[in-house]
Amino acid sequence: MNDKVILVVLDGLNLKVAQDCLGYLNGLVEYKKATQYSLYSELPSLSRPLYECILTGVTPVESGIVHNNVTRRSLFESVFSLAQAQGKTTAAAAYHWVSELYNRSPYDAIRDRHTHNESLQIQHGVFYHWDHYPDQALMLDAEYLRQEFDPDFLLVHSMNIDDAGHKFGLDSPEYRNSARHADILLSDFLPTWIEEGYQILITSDHGMNNDKSHGGTLVEEREVPLYLIGDGFSHLDVAIKQTELCGLMCELLGLQHQKAFAEDALA
Ligand SMILES: [Zn+2]
Repeated sequence: MNDKVILVVLDGLNLKVAQDCLGYLNGLVEYKKATQYSLYSELPSLSRPLYECILTGVTPVESGIVHNNVTRRSLFESVFSLAQAQGKTTAAAAYHWVSELYNRSPYDAIRDRHTHNESLQIQHGVFYHWDHYPDQALMLDAEYLRQEFDPDFLLVHSMNIDDAGHKFGLDSPEYRNSARHADILLSDFLPTWIEEGYQILITSDHGMNNDKSHGGTLVEEREVPLYLIGDGFSHLDVAIKQTELCGLMCELLGLQHQKAFAEDALA
């Protein structure tokens, strides 16, 4: 078993749209190479608060990262901080808010867009600050980081699905096609990652509504998919919370931590 972990966050991907549109990922489920779970996002169902929740296991109400304009570093241990402190290599291809939460805030594109600094929590980063930054470029950034730096923990975070949702709404061809496009991009890289034995989590921070937004308690804003791939997972029918993803990843990485995790989700 490879104890390296790749976390893919497809920003703003609603559960039903994932089930209907991600043909490759659901093919992996049909052929028992992946298991699909669903989770409920914590509240508010907004991006920056939920990046913090996924990566630290701390709810927005507790973390203080309660909306997208809270621009400061996280006050809690994260997968990045724990891994970096325990001698692991960390990397992220992600929206610039992730750099602000765990590396340096505010984001300075000239300084931070390309990050290589072993003393930072995210040691190797390619960050972007455009909501329409192509998912294809993002995937290439991630694969470059994986091949060049061989990180123990790699975050891959795309933005085009969320962007399409804000422009066209949940029930739109554009939103659904954006999800289909992300699935095709993933199908270019996942076979290699699976072959190399990575423990892979693919999820979303929050869903989307028909008002071209998210943030509240509607089921379509909160219900998101979680696909688990790898022999580190039990693949059993268990309930997993969004707040337990951080602890789950820490366990897979073999880190010492005090995060909550769903023990029966692990092999
Ligand atoms: Zn959004």
